[in-house]
Amino acid sequence: MSKSFFIDTTLCTACRGCQVACKQWHDLPAEKTTNRGTYQNPADLSFDTYKLVRMREQVIDGQLKWLFFPEQCRHCIEAPCLETAQDPAAIYYDQPSGAVIYTAATKNLDAREIIESCPYKIPRKGPDGALAKCDMCYDRVQAGMQPACVKTCPTGTMNFGDRQEMLDLAEKRLAVVKRTHPEAMLLDPGDIRAIFMVAYDPRLYHEFAVAANTDFGISRQVALKRMLRPLRHLASHLL
Ligand code: SF4
Ligand code: SF4
Ligand code: SF4
Repeated sequence: MSKSFFIDTTLCTACRGCQVACKQWHDLPAEKTTNRGTYQNPADLSFDTYKLVRMREQVIDGQLKWLFFPEQCRHCIEAPCLETAQDPAAIYYDQPSGAVIYTAATKNLDAREIIESCPYKIPRKGPDGALAKCDMCYDRVQAGMQPACVKTCPTGTMNFGDRQEMLDLAEKRLAVVKRTHPEAMLLDPGDIRAIFMVAYDPRLYHEFAVAANTDFGISRQVALKRMLRPLRHLASHLL
């Protein structure tokens, strides 16, 4: 059965254990940063940072709230980045987890087009032109282990397992949280494999907390490629 995350931001303390565990497992270097007047560090995802705990201070109902959002790739079920690439040597689905995996061959793609196709603005370009992002720790998952960020999370924010099990857990937690936070919601649960729950308007957490542009952020490039797919298939049989 395919896998999913359930990320319950109402339990997150912004300890950043997940961010560090992700770097450790993937042997990614730390980044030199500057004090920008916020605890969020580094400033954004990068070629070397696949997981980032976003932190926002917001005034809600006259009270100061700290909103935490442990950002990562959503592993879309019909991934716009994968459909835009149309190159399984560069971007492919890991079966049976459903993870969307990037390889070194992403350096041969149009990086700008791939980044723009992502409704959550996740992929980042490296010095050699290749793209990188969260890989669901699919090597760990294939070995029967939890992703590093899930294994290390001390609060129960990060959950991972069979998709239906995660959807059930998400609905159960949503019902509980809604008793005290009526605005609570799951973000795009039917379309993605990293399902966040937030207690307030998702835009208060992060600009791209929910899919940008359209119902599910399908870009014009992806829509066009879907329309042309039958023609390309026909052409390949005629050659
Ligand atoms: Fe939040 Fe868990 Fe990450 Fe800590 S490890 S920042 S509690 S998601
Ligand atoms: Fe691709 Fe973006 Fe979806 Fe991740 S979130 S699978 S990078 S489209
Ligand atoms: Fe990083 Fe693995 Fe968690 Fe993805 S699943 S954010 S690669 S630790």
